[in-house]
Amino acid sequence: MVLSRRVSVVGAIVLVAAAVGTLLARWLSGGGERASLTVTVAGRSTHVAEGTTLAAAAARFGLHARTGDVLDVNGKVLRAGAVPGRFLVDGRPASLAMRLRSGDRITVVDGHDRREPLVRRIVRVSGGMTSDPQFTVSRTPGEQVMVSGALSHELVSMRFRPSGPARMEKAVALTFDDGPSPRYTPRILATLTKLRVRATFFVIGYLAEQNPDLVRRELQLGMTVGNHSYNHPEVPPFAQLPPQLLNDEIALSEQVLARLGAQPRLFRPPGGSTSPQLVRAAAALGQRVVLWSVDPADWRPGSSAKAITKRVLSAVRPGSIVILHDGGGNRTATLTALPAIVRGIRHRGLQLVALTAEPHRPQHATGKP
Ligand code: ZN
Repeated sequence: MVLSRRVSVVGAIVLVAAAVGTLLARWLSGGGERASLTVTVAGRSTHVAEGTTLAAAAARFGLHARTGDVLDVNGKVLRAGAVPGRFLVDGRPASLAMRLRSGDRITVVDGHDRREPLVRRIVRVSGGMTSDPQFTVSRTPGEQVMVSGALSHELVSMRFRPSGPARMEKAVALTFDDGPSPRYTPRILATLTKLRVRATFFVIGYLAEQNPDLVRRELQLGMTVGNHSYNHPEVPPFAQLPPQLLNDEIALSEQVLARLGAQPRLFRPPGGSTSPQLVRAAAALGQRVVLWSVDPADWRPGSSAKAITKRVLSAVRPGSIVILHDGGGNRTATLTALPAIVRGIRHRGLQLVALTAEPHRPQHATGKP
């Protein structure tokens, strides 16, 4: 009895010691059944069981890499979530299936929004480019450098790169402002037709609205009809008008002319008042700014037909744009001067042309650096 009791006490002590030893071993191994590794997760040192994969560690520690979007050149989302985030191990991209080793350092890198790549195209402008603002009948040879988004194809910038000086055409353009006038425009049109001259009329929107048949007649006779604003405001100078008013003046007149069948692509600001902002505003409305190089001041009271003719003929050369008026006052002198002006210009071997509205868009690509 006594012996057997001793045996059982010893047995119990051995069993307890064995159990404590197992627990101690488990505790030392981090509670798991396998040995543990020390790794650094997002800057904090911690333990994971041996054999843990990157994916399992990410799940256990709630690691999440945000995705970024691909944006177009204007910042609009083109492809949401297309830029994935990543986990790095020791600063290097790693597969989610990789098993971690002791000392590994896991970092999370979010995907950042990324702008679409840009492509640059160089396009030769065949025949050359008309200047804007345009002062003469000329073309400048060169090429258009166009930068756009590779995915959206949105235009970022377009810059003309001249390859030589402007080439004047052997031509002169007569332009008539401030009409249509029921009193003078029909007579000026009759004279031009008789002389077989095509010219350009920069008409005022509200007058075109009042005299639609005169605008239609100009078009029928092959004249170019341009936009000279709706109200012809002159004070303050046109280019200094508040942007909204300036836009309205151009756009309103364009609408009137479009209703009459004209597609005005040329804009002459009242008083020839221009600025880079004005040129941009007109371009945004699809219009090129046209000024002039010869002003015989036919608008000045007391200008005789003889004086007007003399001033034109002493100043014209290849490429001249001449400003005359078919409205805005007594235009008898201008009308009387026309035949002599036309003869004098032709006598120099120069053609009389209407300005062309064609925008001289690039024709074909020559390279893609
Ligand atoms: Zn005017």
